[in-house]
Amino acid sequence: MTADAPTAARLLARARDLIDPADAALLLAHALDRPRSWLFAHADDVLGEVDAARFDELLARRAAGEPVAYLTGSRGFWTLDLAVSPATLVPRPETELLVELALARLPADAPVRVADLGTGTGAIALALASERPRAQVVATDASPEALEVARGNAVRNRIGNVAFRLGSWLQPLEGEGFDLIASNPPYIADGDPHLSQGDLRFEPAMALSCGLDGLDAIRIIVRDAPACLQPGGWLLLEHGWDQGDAVRALLVEAGFVDVATARDLEHRDRITLGRRS
Ligand code: GLN
Repeated sequence: MTADAPTAARLLARARDLIDPADAALLLAHALDRPRSWLFAHADDVLGEVDAARFDELLARRAAGEPVAYLTGSRGFWTLDLAVSPATLVPRPETELLVELALARLPADAPVRVADLGTGTGAIALALASERPRAQVVATDASPEALEVARGNAVRNRIGNVAFRLGSWLQPLEGEGFDLIASNPPYIADGDPHLSQGDLRFEPAMALSCGLDGLDAIRIIVRDAPACLQPGGWLLLEHGWDQGDAVRALLVEAGFVDVATARDLEHRDRITLGRRS
């Protein structure tokens, strides 16, 4: 083997200066169409030039900021493998906390009705539906492209108890009564400098930012949710670390009870929930 023949070990070592090593391993496995574990068992195998070139291209795009999930086309969420496209937000691990809090409020053996607003890849709706096969879940999104990705993810994960509806927030749900409504809406303030940094630059603006204080979508959801909730039904909303006070105040003002905020693993306010009285 020549001293510069491409091997997994050499390509990963070279990538280390440019991108996160865990991202590099995901991208190399993707370029080779192998599981990540293969890389470590075959670290010194000489790779083909075409595979090495494919990896170099992914590496350059990642170094320029493109999210890994857009480069590989998928992301793990909960127990699911979700297709991801630039029309959808990349599902975040923080959102699994919302799934846990929702499951704690959904009996396992009842035909409960659940809605996920602004479903994106379908992450929340599909995770809840997979854990509660008797539930009827409705997922809404205002983006037809995102809804197509979510629909494909239901098929990909063999989940049959989710219906997908095109429309903004609760508008496609008029006249229905749900036991639980969940949403991870956009909540970053318009013009926030983070929007022009890192992975966020590549994600859909309509999934990220919403109004001067970032709360426009949450205001609409809190206003319209009571009409679509059964008495005692739960509303759960993901939001920014500094929005807990504001979101609790909105829920209390709208007549919700048992209003509380849960913190993520970094001890930051993350999910606010309340129950229709
Ligand atoms: N519900 C999706 C998720 O949590 C999309 C959220 C969004 O686009 N704001 O990943």
